[in-house]
Amino acid sequence: MTIKILDKETVAQIAAGEVVERPASVVKELVENALDAGATRISVEVKGGGVDLIRVTDNGSGIPSDQVALAFERHATSKINSPRDLHNINSLGFRGEALPSIAAVAGVEVVTGADGEAAGTYISLEGGDVINQKKQSRTRGTTVTVRQLFKRVPARLKFLKSAATENGRIAEVVSQYALACPGVAFTLTADDREKLRSTGRGRLLDSIIDVYGAALADRMLPVTGGPDGNVDPDIRVTGMVGSPELGRAGRGNLSFFVNRRWVSSRLLAYAVEEAYRGLLMTGKHPVAVLNIDLPPGEVDVNIHPAKSEVKFRNDGDVFRAVQRAVRRALVAQAPVPRIEEVAAAYRAPAARGETLWPVEPRESPAPPPEPPPALLSTLPVLRVVGQVMNAYIVAEGPDGLYVIDQHAAHERIRFERVREQRERQKPEVQGLLEPATYEVTPRQDAVMRDGIDTLAGFGFALEPFGERAYLVRAVPAMVGSDWSSMLPELLDGLAGEERSRWEERIVASIACHGAVRSGQTLSHDEMRALVRDLEKCASPHTCPHGRPTIIRLSSTQLEREFGRG
Ligand code: ADP
Ligand code: MG
Repeated sequence: MTIKILDKETVAQIAAGEVVERPASVVKELVENALDAGATRISVEVKGGGVDLIRVTDNGSGIPSDQVALAFERHATSKINSPRDLHNINSLGFRGEALPSIAAVAGVEVVTGADGEAAGTYISLEGGDVINQKKQSRTRGTTVTVRQLFKRVPARLKFLKSAATENGRIAEVVSQYALACPGVAFTLTADDREKLRSTGRGRLLDSIIDVYGAALADRMLPVTGGPDGNVDPDIRVTGMVGSPELGRAGRGNLSFFVNRRWVSSRLLAYAVEEAYRGLLMTGKHPVAVLNIDLPPGEVDVNIHPAKSEVKFRNDGDVFRAVQRAVRRALVAQAPVPRIEEVAAAYRAPAARGETLWPVEPRESPAPPPEPPPALLSTLPVLRVVGQVMNAYIVAEGPDGLYVIDQHAAHERIRFERVREQRERQKPEVQGLLEPATYEVTPRQDAVMRDGIDTLAGFGFALEPFGERAYLVRAVPAMVGSDWSSMLPELLDGLAGEERSRWEERIVASIACHGAVRSGQTLSHDEMRALVRDLEKCASPHTCPHGRPTIIRLSSTQLEREFGRG
């Protein structure tokens, strides 16, 4: 075995392997360069899934003619000067690796026109070597064309998926940057077909419409970075999040931009999921587009070859800032959904006669959207009209008719009450006149042993009593005599649940047991009390499982249905 220093081409290909994994990585690097150059218009054109052609055109500052060749040297960058600068990065690029890496695995041509130069420059490279450089006219900006990606690296080529799949990943990159930079107009064409166009008008909502469509954008709530919206003045969290009924089946709808850099982060994803806890239907995931802006020194961007992950100096602060900002947006601004929205979101049985009102799409053109009711953190004051089907309370509010699901609403009320008692560590307890013996299965016993203290925090006073039995001395007052049906169900549920979710599970179980059932007749006073309590809830619009507690038929809708509008 002889040790030797590898030749330049092998070294370049090894380095390129880190940065350029697939066509979408090339697009990402070129778009980042365009953004760093201050472009306000960026167009991306690809052919054959990006393997045949990738062309990114920008109107940024351009590259001066005497530096164009230098830009393709390894570690050549205009963005940092010294190790110190690594702790204060304001640009997307900083390593000077993208252009040489791309040139090592593809044919590259650049036409660029720099600020203050009469003529522009053309350069072409093959295998990393400059083939041709000359003057060429070009307005301010840069066009980089990449051809025959990975032709010299067949191993890489083999790992690529179909052109359609690679196109999808490219579209993802461009979409994410369109969301990150609403002030930049992006276009993406794949095999001569336009896939995406963003207006670049500067409003995030417009970018969301461009990327996700108007229907989804309609249900996004603003996360504001105002002084009261953010706990930590150094960490600004802004953007938009989906209202809870917008829950998606997959987790792929979270976009995070840390100082404008698109990153993936489990920490941030978890912070958002936490903020939605108790609001989303089980198994559903939120939609969010969030900008996290913090002093560059608070975040290390130099930890990942493709710069797509970052490390925060203080994870806890960032986590809390994101969770609170999102939670605040959700609690403050979720309006009572209109009945069609609920039908659409839940695919409620829409067959005629099964719902209170027909919800099929109407033939006539859609009426102009109603102005949303004042965005209220709580419900408006409602006047109870009566009960229907022993399951729903019908009420009148400032803007039309409201229908409340009595069980879901009561569950929400109880859920918040239990949680509050738990937070204050003051569970309301009901002592049993005589301690009861309670027998458990081996599986339940295992949970009991582990969870007896947790249960005590909610008001259960339990003591081991011989083999697989316990003495019950007290129970949560909210459960009362229902404890004997609740406890076995709860213990079985906890047995299959991660330890970290036990508390949440117990809260939900207490909320559910003893809640008014569907099918239960309520007196007018009971209904009024229930509606009053719901009005006082912090998140009155959904039950703890994320289903709606209340839907609204607006006065405009009523008028329309009766042909008065
Ligand atoms: P980095 O972005 O890390 O600096 P790159 O290899 O991506 O490294 O680019 C090298 C240099 O080329 C950049 O620092 C920048 O000065 C210049 N450059 C690359 N693309 C553009 C562009 N589209 N517009 C202006 N300058 C560019
Ligand atoms: Mg770069």
